[in-house]
This record gives sequence, C-alpha cells and structure tokens, in this order.
Amino acid sequence: LKNITVACIGGGQLAQMLGQAGKKLGITLRSSGSIDSCAFSDCEPFTKDLSDDENFKSFIEDISTFTFESEHEGLEWATKISENSIDVYPPAEFVKIAGDRLLEKNHLKDLGIPTAPFELIDPEIGAAELDRLLANLVSTQALSPYGVVVKTRHGGYDGKGQWVIKVGEDTDFGRVATEIFPAIKSPGCIVEGLVDFSLECSVIAARSSTGEFASWPLSQNEHEDSILRFSYSPIFGLENLPELETQAIKIARVLCEENNYVGTIAVECFVTDDGLAVNEIAPRVHNSGHWTIEGSETSQFEQHLRAITGMKLGDTSCRGLSAMINLVGIKVDPKPFENLEGIYLHWYGKIVRKDRKVGHITIVGESVEELDKRVEAALEMLST
Ligand code: AMP
Repeated sequence: LKNITVACIGGGQLAQMLGQAGKKLGITLRSSGSIDSCAFSDCEPFTKDLSDDENFKSFIEDISTFTFESEHEGLEWATKISENSIDVYPPAEFVKIAGDRLLEKNHLKDLGIPTAPFELIDPEIGAAELDRLLANLVSTQALSPYGVVVKTRHGGYDGKGQWVIKVGEDTDFGRVATEIFPAIKSPGCIVEGLVDFSLECSVIAARSSTGEFASWPLSQNEHEDSILRFSYSPIFGLENLPELETQAIKIARVLCEENNYVGTIAVECFVTDDGLAVNEIAPRVHNSGHWTIEGSETSQFEQHLRAITGMKLGDTSCRGLSAMINLVGIKVDPKPFENLEGIYLHWYGKIVRKDRKVGHITIVGESVEELDKRVEAALEMLST
C-alpha cells in the first residue's frame, strides 16, 4: 500500500465512495466539506475556510494530486492549486468545457461526435423576440420534428434549468418566454432539438496520467422527473448492442485523448435509430456507474484514484449482471438489507429531503432471471 493523500473539494456521497475505495489502495482522501458532510465517515475531514491562506496551505500539505466531486466548486480552487505544483485531475480546461452546455456541444461538434442540434439564444434578445423565436423553432421544426428543450448553459442538473416545448402541444409561448427570460442573460441558454430515443445509456471510462484507458460496458439509465432512478449494466436484449458499445467507447476515448483527460469520465447518450447521440459529459465518477462497486472487479471510484495517482488501471470485468436503484428522498431501514446475497445497500447518511439522493442499492445476479428476482425482492423491501 502506498500511503498517499489526495485532496478533494466536496464532501458528498461521491467523495464518500472515493474515500471508501481509497482505503483499499492505501490512499487517504482529504475531503473539504461542511461539518455535516457524509464523506467524513470515510475521509480525512477538512472543514476550515479555504479562503484563508494558512488553511489553504494545510489543505494542500503533503498532497501531490487534487480532485473534486463537484465541478463548480472544484474549478474555483483548481488554478490556485495547480500554481503549487500539484496535479489537478481531471484537467480544469476540460471541466470548464463540460460544465458549459454551449462549449460542451461545440466541442462535441468539433470532434465529429453526434449530439442533438442546438443553437445559442442571443443573450441580448428581448422577451417578445424570445417568444417569437421559440414559436418559430417549434412551428418550422428547424431543430427537430418533436420540439425543443431550452437549457441553461451552467448550473442545471437533474432537469433543473430546462424547459421542454413539444410540437403539437398547445403551448402558451408568451408564458414560457416570460419564465425563461431571466436566465437568457445569465447564466445564458441554448435551445436544442428534442431527440427521439429508444433508451438512455451512459459509458463510464477512465484514462490514467500514464495514458492508459479502460471502460465498462454501457449502462442503461431510467429517469423519472429527470432524476436517475435505475441503471442496468451490461445492457441485455438490445440487438445492435455491440455496435453501440463500440461507438460509445470510441467517443469516450476520443474525448479523453483529445483533452489529455485523467480520471473517471461518464458520457450520457441517447440511443437513436442512427446510433448514439451524446447528451452530456460528466468529468467525474457518475451515478450511473455506482453499480461498479459490487458489479465489477474494479469500481469507478477505485479507477478514478488509480488514474489520478498514476497507478495501473484495474480490471473492469463484470461480476455477472448488475442493476442499481437510486434512493431518492426516502428513508430506508438498513437492517433488513444486512448480509443479503447479491443485494447491497449504500446508505449515505444524509438528511432525507424531497428529491435528494440519499443512497442506492446495487443488485448483482448471474443471469437475467436471478437479477430480476433480486431487483423485485429489493423493491418489495423498499415498499414495506
Ligand atoms: P440533462 O440534464 O441534459 O441530462 O437532461 C435530463 C433529461 O432530460 C435527460 O436524461 C433526458 O431524459 C431529457 N432530455 C434532455 N435533453 C433532451 C433532448 N434533447 N431530447 C430529448 N430528451 C432530452
């Protein structure tokens, strides 16, 4: 074991699971969070105010690598940290791109990676003009025959900062434009065509500081109210899966290599009749890869730490078929979940609030039948 300390901005469940993975590798995660951060159960807590120079110095003492679980907060410190000869992974330049839907979509376009058609909404547009623009884009079907979705450039997640307008619906464009208008100037918005997809999936991959690359099979993702509820991997029952896997891995690899990316990355995609179209890139470990903790020889968390500390990447083989159920805004009694075969509860220890991700369950089975049976058993336990 190496006995390395990695500094991490953020103290949520992603940092918590990185901290858990680090123990196996001899890596301590120094997590900067608030006093009640759930990550602190598995990390070295750091609660002091980083804007104080002395505190900042002690935060980066003895570390060679810096990472973050939240792009926004991480970027605030990335420059200052790299000035201290500390590696910042994933690279801040790419995190900036991935955190801005306009830059992200332009980047995908430049690399020839399919994505939904889009345009920037002029930040100087007036409210009446916006009303006309939206009505026109929908009636001419210029971006898509199905309608459009307006998305804020920054800060939207789990469906926040998004407005969907479907062709054929009786839309009051004036009202929608009034709702969207405040976001047009700041943070800015793009409008993109709605994609007709058969399912949503993501590829999780990692590239190490030595240039090594590894990926897992695609995960199929199901959302409700734009929040991820279920993932399955490997996907089964999809005829052209091998072609989709090949395309997904190529996309992830190109993004990594073109950006000198280091760490775990997730690329969320729509499956369409023409193959994959990328919806979003997450420059970090991702909810749709949580199943890898039990479902793969190496988890996405362990792989991230291996990648950013220059260790050899781990084996990404699957241990059968996996499913993941997100626990969103519900309280779960962990007792009945103890010592079950193939059903693993991860309770983050956060205060339960509506729409908040407070835990997840990974389910692993040897066959589709076994997986289904265990998923049903887990859902049953959640409903009682
Ligand atoms: P996002 O925040 O971009 O991941 O979007 C949240 C969810 O909204 C996605 O998982 C999709 O289900 C849906 N969505 C986003 N963009 C589009 C689009 N262009 N066409 C169809 N559905 C979309």
